Amino acid sequence: MYLNCLEDVKNITKELVKVPSIVKTDGETKCAQKIYDYYKEIPYFKENPERLQMVQTIDDEIERHIVVAHVKGTKGDSNKALILMGHLDTVGVDDFGTIKEYAFDPDKLPEALRKLNLDEELNADIDSGEYMFGRGALDMKSGVAGHMYLIKYFSEHPEELNGHLIALAECDEEDNSHGILTGLKVFKDIKEKENLEYVAAINADYSTPYHAKDENRYVYFGTIGKLLPSFYVVGKETHVGQAFGGLDPNLVVAELTRLIELNPELCDEAFGEVTIPPMSLKQADFKEGYTVQTALAAYSYYNFFTHSMSPKDVMEKMKEKAEEAFDNIIEYTNSSYKEFCEKGGHTYTKLPWKKRVYTWDEFYNELVDIHGDKFKKHIRDFADELNKKQPTMDLREFSAKVIEEAWKWVEDRSPAIIIYYSSIFSARIEVTGKDEKEKNLLDSVNESIDFVQKYSDKPIVTKMFYPYISDSSFMTISDDLEDLKALENNMPAWGTKYVYNVDDILAINVPVVNIGTFGKDGHKVTERVHMKHTFENVPNITYNTIKKILA
Ligand SMILES: [Zn+2]
Repeated sequence: MYLNCLEDVKNITKELVKVPSIVKTDGETKCAQKIYDYYKEIPYFKENPERLQMVQTIDDEIERHIVVAHVKGTKGDSNKALILMGHLDTVGVDDFGTIKEYAFDPDKLPEALRKLNLDEELNADIDSGEYMFGRGALDMKSGVAGHMYLIKYFSEHPEELNGHLIALAECDEEDNSHGILTGLKVFKDIKEKENLEYVAAINADYSTPYHAKDENRYVYFGTIGKLLPSFYVVGKETHVGQAFGGLDPNLVVAELTRLIELNPELCDEAFGEVTIPPMSLKQADFKEGYTVQTALAAYSYYNFFTHSMSPKDVMEKMKEKAEEAFDNIIEYTNSSYKEFCEKGGHTYTKLPWKKRVYTWDEFYNELVDIHGDKFKKHIRDFADELNKKQPTMDLREFSAKVIEEAWKWVEDRSPAIIIYYSSIFSARIEVTGKDEKEKNLLDSVNESIDFVQKYSDKPIVTKMFYPYISDSSFMTISDDLEDLKALENNMPAWGTKYVYNVDDILAINVPVVNIGTFGKDGHKVTERVHMKHTFENVPNITYNTIKKILA
């Protein structure tokens, strides 16, 4: 069956866009309230108020909420449960500049944008009338709106469902994922109360063309993963007048960046799909103010996408690169020194630098071997204290501070590189059909796409990895649990400021597909959602998938 849902989903989307919900503002709760109020008016939830929840996020630094709506089908007595998920928060609007007042107004924003004279494609899209503009229209209130429509539909037609349909609208997707982490706990609660078996999750996060001529629409099984390999480099400080008397950590970091950034060898390929190579996201030393002494230490970190590699694999690769960088710098400084000596008529003696590369795991354990529990306790207390004193401190900065503290315990002060992870972990997920749940999801989605294709004038194409970071990463774990230890053991912030809660994820543990919104320029001023595909085709693919899975 094909639902004529365009107008309904369009109206819900517009209502949601009008409630600003920039991440880390009280708008997140206001938007959650809006969604909650929509469900509250539905007769089904008046009769079954316990199936609708607005829940405050757990262990969060600010107050914000998620909404969970649950419809139980009446077609049979299956205990299978399917999750619909989508985030209600958006990125900020500072980039709107002078037209900021229209950022949440889908009616007035197009004309305001037109006056900015941005580009032809944008004007053509405004003229076409095919797009809705506004912060969050594409990413991804229209996706949440589609799920709200479907929950209402199934609440009125529970006889079409054999099983449970549960929709989550979560906050904090654009920052630290408190929304989905709280959602996992709610899912677990419902599972235990109603003896459910979760079988799949459908996310509706945004998709976009790969290039200007790309006419395809995309559905993604599984999702890309992301790690943030980070490097703490201790050098040997020196006065600029004695350039060869020290080792500049900035030089080592520069070499790390040269070897890692945009290096195609570090693209991760699986099922014919290739990740974008790593990029530097930070490169800095710790020196304050200006002096003519070189820095004592520096650090850098890199975005690293994964399709097949585990935290263990990435750490091994990064160690190779760090060793190569160290070797290169020893060779470079020596050959430079040699040439300088020849020019100036000095006697050359080999510089004292020795390659010294640790993972945080190795470094930490070496210090435990030397100092025992005293060191362990000190670092733990230090991290605890730091987290209590400055709970909003950036996770990357926090991690570097813990290493800086540990370095104070080192006896050998010669230059070294310490490699670690310093950001939240986004797990890669592959959905290959390796078990019943995956097979069923793949088949159901593929058949639904075939059906909806007749109503779409553009090809709807499937791919294996959703290409952006999303909350889909929290629905299952594709990495070996053993390999995940490399994450825990290499995160200085682990256990104080961050944990990756394997148990909560495994309690739900479902394959995930992204049947998401479609449009252009997510996270930009010109963010716009394609209405026909997103308000009609997408909910129909989802609708048919739900009916096949909960048949
Ligand atoms: Zn999103």
